[in-house]
Amino acid sequence: MCPDPRQALEDVIHQAAEYLAWLKADGVQQVEIARKSEPPKGDPVSQELNTIATQISACKKCDLHKTRTNTVPGQGHTHPEIMFIGEAPGADEDEQGLAFVGRAGQLLTKMIEAMGFKRDEVFIANIAKCRPPDNRQPTPEEMDTCIPYLKRQIVALQPKVIVALGAVAVKGLLQDFTGISKVRGTWMKFDGIDVMPTYHPAYLLRNPPAKKEVWADLQLVLKRLGRTPPPVKKAE
Ligand code: URA
Repeated sequence: MCPDPRQALEDVIHQAAEYLAWLKADGVQQVEIARKSEPPKGDPVSQELNTIATQISACKKCDLHKTRTNTVPGQGHTHPEIMFIGEAPGADEDEQGLAFVGRAGQLLTKMIEAMGFKRDEVFIANIAKCRPPDNRQPTPEEMDTCIPYLKRQIVALQPKVIVALGAVAVKGLLQDFTGISKVRGTWMKFDGIDVMPTYHPAYLLRNPPAKKEVWADLQLVLKRLGRTPPPVKKAE
């Protein structure tokens, strides 16, 4: 049974009042209300991202719209230090309308956290906003058709660094066809923004030893941001 939302709200207010009374009895005079890390919805970047997402949801510029369940515009912080760009949604992403929520996404989350960020502190998107059938790569025509949405997202977000995940991201964003194993770990530029190409997490699931190279690439990103990675947690 669904809980009564009004009752649930009253319970929360009641618990908050009890907690404040308990703090007061303990001598606490003042409490600080934390600011939400995400800027308010009226933020112009949020508005532009919402506009782009709405346009993507109505997009029929290529045949991928015929087989999609949901469009996947990408999601995350609206003022991110880092933007991660992948290839295209898979089955899980198509079902949920969110980027990188399947197995590769779980690995991406671990990479982000190893860098000392939370997933919602970065922005995650793809070159193609709809799932190509049978998880094939998006065709060059599909990429060319879709890329203006991503470019507008980058212009709105102005991340300090973009991490391009895999060959398709590098091709789509930079028109560089050199091959990911050659360009990974070397700084590139998109519209004045530093881009670090590295392997796609799906490749790492198939080839775990390559995680070492990806970690080296992500350390370069942290260095460029003037950050150090948090200490590695010891296994219990
Ligand atoms: N692979 C991608 O490139 N993007 C996703 O969102 C999921 C898997």
